[in-house]
Amino acid sequence: MSERATEARSANAVQRCIIPECNSAYGIRERIYVCPRCGGPLEIQCRLESCGDANVLRKQWTDRAGSNDPRDRSGVWRYRELLPFDFDVPVVSLFEGKTPLYDAPRSAEYCGLRSLQVKHLGCNPTGSFKDAGMTTAVTHAALLGARTVVCASTGNTAASLAAYAARAGLQCAIVVPQGQVTSAKLAQSMDYGAAVLEIDGNFDDAMRLVQELADDASIYLANSINPFRVEGQKTVAFELLQQCEWKLPDHVVAPGGNMGNSSALAKGFDELRQLGLIDRLPKLHVIQAEGSAPMARMFAEMEKNRVARDGSVMPDIVPVADPKTLATAIKIGSPISWKKSLRGVLRSGGRVLAASEQEIADAKAIIGRDGIGCEPASATTIAGIRKMVVAGNMGRAESVVAVLTGHILKDPDYVNRYHNGTLSLGSSSPMKGAFANPPERVAANKSAILASIERRNHKSGGVPRAKN
Ligand SMILES: [Zn+2]
Repeated sequence: MSERATEARSANAVQRCIIPECNSAYGIRERIYVCPRCGGPLEIQCRLESCGDANVLRKQWTDRAGSNDPRDRSGVWRYRELLPFDFDVPVVSLFEGKTPLYDAPRSAEYCGLRSLQVKHLGCNPTGSFKDAGMTTAVTHAALLGARTVVCASTGNTAASLAAYAARAGLQCAIVVPQGQVTSAKLAQSMDYGAAVLEIDGNFDDAMRLVQELADDASIYLANSINPFRVEGQKTVAFELLQQCEWKLPDHVVAPGGNMGNSSALAKGFDELRQLGLIDRLPKLHVIQAEGSAPMARMFAEMEKNRVARDGSVMPDIVPVADPKTLATAIKIGSPISWKKSLRGVLRSGGRVLAASEQEIADAKAIIGRDGIGCEPASATTIAGIRKMVVAGNMGRAESVVAVLTGHILKDPDYVNRYHNGTLSLGSSSPMKGAFANPPERVAANKSAILASIERRNHKSGGVPRAKN
């Protein structure tokens, strides 16, 4: 299929309200973030039958890996047949995506699995998964002639938006809860030239404020409530399947904060199934931090009351008024995209659960022992997988992919405190890390250093093991 044949991609796409009783459709150039009729979430719907033959697409996407076309060098725009943009739009890109899929044998052993793979979205240009969705959102903002792009953020969205806005020459304002964003993430936003606006309040307050700001016609809202964010983000599912050589994993596990990421993964897998590139969906599981887990609580209630898993009945979510977790990226009490995310989880037969601070911290350290560094929120996945294996929801021999969302350098302070034994949430006593590995003072001579190395050899015997 030539590119010309699908040039008018935008003509084949609408923004549709996901509330079944409403189902309203709007043009993709309308600057709306929720359904003007009922207030429900919107998603982009492309006519997939116009995308061409699935086998041709698969070959085309593979061939693009060696191309120097700027769109092919992006792991998002490489899949442009499934994006609601005409092929000739000027894209705002930092060559995002193309993130590695690693084997993680020590993490697998820790979880009780024979093998485990991790898809590290923290290897994106600004160090988090947000870049895959930001390239499409900021491209859309520029197309609509927006002057200023804004977002509420726990840090990663801000850093990503600031970078893409700078690439596009757009003004950027980010609204963040004062004192609750890691210094690394704030540093990124300042360097990329964004107006960093710190409010007295939490993320949910910031989210409410930017939604009010978005009433202004010159302002473009770039949070994941915006369906164009989800469009870029869904390509992670395409890239993952391509890396798995189109062999579907049994389980895909993602952290849950504002729920845009899991919503996007669900949409991506669903589109691949509609295209016939896969014949079923992987079970999609979402893991939250215990002190910030409104959807996990809701899921547990649904299970207890035996609510149908077909998504036909969805009770309302009860927000957590004062969310608490050291995994600041998912410190969100009122997730904006919970409906889309839960729908995806239920459709796939997945689960939503929560992990404790101690479980997250130890899981993060064991990922480190695989030579893979992630931020705390990412480690909820490993903690959640371990719990699901213990509970019998996951078989030892099943194929599992954990989605890591942020790079270790996003929060080095957490890592230092874990290994030095000073990591604690609020006034609780410091955690005792199962894999704590503090630095050691040694005398400045060869024999003292050799003695220390020898001592460690005897102590650890290689692979660290968790106490069950
Ligand atoms: Zn509606």
